[in-house]
Amino acid sequence: MAGWTVICERCGALEQLDHAGWCCPRCGAVWVITGSDSLDPARLFPSERSLWRYEQVLPVSRADAVSLGEGMTPLIPGELSGHPVWFKLDFLLPTGSFKDRGASLLVSHLHRLGYRRLVVDSSGNAAAALAGYCAAAGIGCHVFAPAVTSPAKLAQARAYGARVTLVEGSREQVAAAAQRAAATDPAAAYASHNWHPVFIEGTKTWLLEVWEQLGGRFPAACFLPVGGGSLLVGARRACQALPGPYPALIAAQPQACAPLVEALARGAADVTPVVPAPTLAEGARIAAPPRGRQMLAAIRGSGGWAEAIEEDLLIDTVRQLWRQGLYVEPTAALGAAAFRQALTHRGPLPEGEVVIVLTGSGLKTGTRRIK
Ligand SMILES: [Zn+2]
Repeated sequence: MAGWTVICERCGALEQLDHAGWCCPRCGAVWVITGSDSLDPARLFPSERSLWRYEQVLPVSRADAVSLGEGMTPLIPGELSGHPVWFKLDFLLPTGSFKDRGASLLVSHLHRLGYRRLVVDSSGNAAAALAGYCAAAGIGCHVFAPAVTSPAKLAQARAYGARVTLVEGSREQVAAAAQRAAATDPAAAYASHNWHPVFIEGTKTWLLEVWEQLGGRFPAACFLPVGGGSLLVGARRACQALPGPYPALIAAQPQACAPLVEALARGAADVTPVVPAPTLAEGARIAAPPRGRQMLAAIRGSGGWAEAIEEDLLIDTVRQLWRQGLYVEPTAALGAAAFRQALTHRGPLPEGEVVIVLTGSGLKTGTRRIK
């Protein structure tokens, strides 16, 4: 789209955003996207009750949108450990997770470029979201998933009509299989939620909405689940669009897989891959996130930090949310658990309003191992 460019975060290569490329072709590093980055609230589309109301800061126009009405999820007042908080209900998006924000933008972008099939690697919410938007666009979707993935998690993608290929080996081997499949099919593009910069431009809209819902200001702090980091890096992009003061961004990761916590403790500029242990927070079990450098910059630049959450606290927090009528999956409770942990183990929190993002629906995972 005119005026939008991608810049390699490692070698500085710069290209127009008019192709399906998902990483730098020179050095293989992740892209950073820039374009119409400043949001004029007077130029919103008040009648557009979806994330497409922010068209002026999106790299795809409303005319090219593949949409299921995503965005404008409720922001409701609630309570955690006796403290008032706001809950952002992104588990109410069309396929049941926040990933619909990125999927809508990315599928729109690749559909506009003429691709007839998208290739995806995921075992959970991203596969469902991308398969759902491919269905809405009337194009094919091929999901590559780890062979160990539970069949129930792929049922939603299959229901949308996606073809599913199971791959033996590591998460990286699954991604490589998807990349090979896309590279050998001229009608296909690799639609990676962990790599593609256009995905971030969709996920940033959660914080633009919060800004509007709070009456034209940011909260003091946001607690969010972080695996691949699109919610976190998206939040940083949202802050670039509007005047401050800006929120502290607190990344919540399972103790079983917490590369950000480890990198911040070391003062490192990038994450080092970790060996993940089992966790109920499956959606945040990303041992080597490609956007590690951008995630650390987003946390540090906001005055935030990261919390590693033990399984017992996560389970107790899931139960607390359910008892408030908020039926989320375990991964989605990480932010709420991080808030509770910060209250008890950290000094005073930033003064002011706190937003907890609830990212995925409990309808996908059920109550097994929590009850
Ligand atoms: Zn490069």
